Amino acid sequence: MSQVLLLYRLQEIDTEYREKKQRLTEVLRAQKETDVLLAARKQVETAVATLKKWRTQHKELSLELEGLNAKAKRSEDRLYSGNVKNPKELSDLQNEIQALGRRRSTLEDELLEVMILIEDAEAEHQAATEALTKVETQWQHAQAGLKQEQKELALRLHVLTGQRQQQTTLIAADNLTLYNNLSQKRGGVAVARLKDNMCTGCRLTVSAHKVKEVNEGQLVYCGGCGRILCPQV
Ligand SMILES: [Zn+2]
Repeated sequence: MSQVLLLYRLQEIDTEYREKKQRLTEVLRAQKETDVLLAARKQVETAVATLKKWRTQHKELSLELEGLNAKAKRSEDRLYSGNVKNPKELSDLQNEIQALGRRRSTLEDELLEVMILIEDAEAEHQAATEALTKVETQWQHAQAGLKQEQKELALRLHVLTGQRQQQTTLIAADNLTLYNNLSQKRGGVAVARLKDNMCTGCRLTVSAHKVKEVNEGQLVYCGGCGRILCPQV
C-alpha cells in the first residue's frame, strides 16, 4: 500500500477517534442531573414548605380557639352561677363574653381560610411529587442508555488508539510529521480524496498530470488547499 493510502487510513482512524471522543464528552455531560430534574425537585421542596407553613398556622389558630373557648366557658359559668351580684362586674362579664364571641368568629373564619389553603397546598404537593417521579424515571432510563454508550465509546477509543499506533509503524517518519502538521493546520484533514479529478478538500479541479501522479502513488499536494491528494476509490 502506498504511503498516501496509509496516511489516508490514519486520517480515518483519527477522524473516528475525534468524533468518538467528542461524543464521550457529551455522554459524560448528559449524565449530570438535568435542569428539568432540578426544577422538578425544587418544585416539590417549595410545595412541602408551603404545606408546612399552612399546617403550622392551622395548629396555632386551633390552639388559640381552644384557649378562647375555655376562657369564654369560664366567664359564662361565672355569669350564670348567680354568685356575681355587682352590676358593674356583671356588665364587664357580658362585655367580655361578647368580645370573645367576636374574636371566635374571626378565628373560625381564619381557620376556614387556612383549611382551604392547606387543601390547595396538598394538591400542589401531590402534583409536584408526581411530576418529579415522572422526570426522575425518564432521567434514570436515559442514564442506563448513557452508561452503556459510555462503555462502548471507551472500548472503541481504546481500539482506535491501538490501531493508530499500529498504523504509524507503517508510515515513514517524515511523512508522519508532514501529516501531523498539515492535519493541525487543516482542521484535522491532511489528506483529501480525488473525486472526478476534483479535490474533495476544496473542490478545486486538479490537472490531469497531477491526477496521474496521484494515481501512481506519489505524494502530491493540492494547489488550492495544500492537502495531500489521495486517489479516488
Ligand atoms: Zn484541495
